[in-house]
Amino acid sequence: MGYFGDIADSLLTTVKGMAVTFSHLGEKANTVQWPHEPATTKPRTRGELFNNIDDCIGCGNCAKACPVDCIGIDTIKSTKSVDLGRTSNGKKKTLLLARFDIDMAKCCYCGLCVDVCPTECLIMTEKFDYSSAAVKDLYFRFAQLDSGQIAAAQEALEEEKRQAAAAALAKAEADKLAAERAKAEAEAAAPATGETPAAPAGEAPTPETNTDAGSQA
Ligand code: SF4
Ligand code: SF4
Repeated sequence: MGYFGDIADSLLTTVKGMAVTFSHLGEKANTVQWPHEPATTKPRTRGELFNNIDDCIGCGNCAKACPVDCIGIDTIKSTKSVDLGRTSNGKKKTLLLARFDIDMAKCCYCGLCVDVCPTECLIMTEKFDYSSAAVKDLYFRFAQLDSGQIAAAQEALEEEKRQAAAAALAKAEADKLAAERAKAEAEAAAPATGETPAAPAGEAPTPETNTDAGSQA
């Protein structure tokens, strides 16, 4: 294409481009002047994570699935006497959540934690405008218990263990005493009947038994 042909081509493409531009002039603008105007989000937007802690069973699936380790969970087993109830989708709760933290500064919004949650209590909200100059503001805590409640729950669990151990010890002592009493009664009854008391299962024969056996031989 020659010199004048290039000029004609430039003019033609300019006219074409401007025709497209002018064809949209009357349309409503899609640009939102956020933050001066509220921004709308689409369904399934991956924004700030939220945990409805009342429905969390402390299973830890979310923390295991997270590729960047930004979820931290500490749980305390509930004592048998305390019924923690069930989640809204019927799962039994057995653990108290001493800590459930999400470091949103590390989060890569993959959504894996949400996918593996069995109670659907962990969700990605549509909130996206939570940036902060202080990184600590992006560390979210959802724990159920404060420090006093954690100490009380741990003490209750220890007390339950102590009581279970004491009960097991008492039962072992009682069983031992009963066995000794039964053995003494059997030995006391043996001379009156002239019969040799049967040796308890697992015990070596008594000396009398051996003597009898030797005299018969
Ligand atoms: S969205 Fe991904 S990176 Fe963020 S907390 Fe969940 S699993 Fe971790
Ligand atoms: S997967 Fe769900 S129920 Fe399990 S610890 Fe995480 S948030 Fe709680």
